[in-house]
Amino acid sequence: MIIDGKKCSEEILENLKKEVSEYKERIGKIPGLAVIILGDNPASKIYVRSKIRACEKVGIYSKEIVLSDKISEAELIKEIEKLNSDKDINGILVQLPLPEHINEKKICDAISIRKDVDGFKQESLGKIVLGDEDGFISCTPQGIIYLIDQLNMDLNGKNAVVVGRSNIVGKPTASLLINKGATTTVCNSKTKDLTGILKRADIIVVAVGKAGFLKKDMVKEGAVVIDVGINREGGKICGDVDFEGVSQIASHITPVPGGVGPMTIAMLLKNTVKAFCKEELVNGK
Ligand code: NAP
Repeated sequence: MIIDGKKCSEEILENLKKEVSEYKERIGKIPGLAVIILGDNPASKIYVRSKIRACEKVGIYSKEIVLSDKISEAELIKEIEKLNSDKDINGILVQLPLPEHINEKKICDAISIRKDVDGFKQESLGKIVLGDEDGFISCTPQGIIYLIDQLNMDLNGKNAVVVGRSNIVGKPTASLLINKGATTTVCNSKTKDLTGILKRADIIVVAVGKAGFLKKDMVKEGAVVIDVGINREGGKICGDVDFEGVSQIASHITPVPGGVGPMTIAMLLKNTVKAFCKEELVNGK
């Protein structure tokens, strides 16, 4: 069975749209998201455009800030600080990757914790590990878990394997699975007997960045397979899973495109509305 991330994300955006219009009516304010992009990396431009388009769909105010990729770290931090004190902005996102002369961690540190809708700050990651729901859960891991939740599976006693240990996908996804009770293994490029580990998994999340990496013979019959990969091959986008082979054996599988990708954007807007509510809806207003 195909897990339809596109449909699921559209439902989330529809609900957010209603929520935003209620706030507009009730308190005369709407959430705002600022997206900073450096230079003209074509893939980054596509991602930013889809985020801005999704904001428009939902009625969230969006501000796209295009800066030179030659900008200094200090100048970029100044831009972020302006947004930190901008009352119309509830969420700040700096589109990755950044040019080499800019330190990603310093840029993350500069974003106010109240506006960290990407969930990349250390404090946000810490809250994910602790299961503290007050924080912002990074968008892709949040989207992955949302899709798994739709299957109404009890994760207690299930074996989950996350392939990839990045700070933005692998590690937070593993923490969320641990918090849900799954016995979770995180694999990387040095893992020995990856196939043996994967063959015992009830849930597999692949975030490796290699087209068609997960093959049918690595998967247990009936496993749930979540494909996070976005790879460009000959003008086409494909995931980390050999969809044709693995879909014959998995019980549920996400397609690429139309799986985790649209969920990431939906969760970004969900986090932006959450940031707005934390800021504006105090004392039950
Ligand atoms: P990343 O930082 O490049 O990390 C890749 C991970 O895969 C690393 O931990 C690496 O291990 C591991 N790996 C590489 N080869 C392996 C192998 N042969 N066996 C086991 N593990 C292996 O990537 P990322 O940022 O997490 O992204 C992963 C993929 O997801 C990319 O295709 C990216 O475009 C996509 N992505 C999609 C979304 C979305 O919205 N759908 C969001 C973010 C990322 P080592 O640590 O040992 O090197």
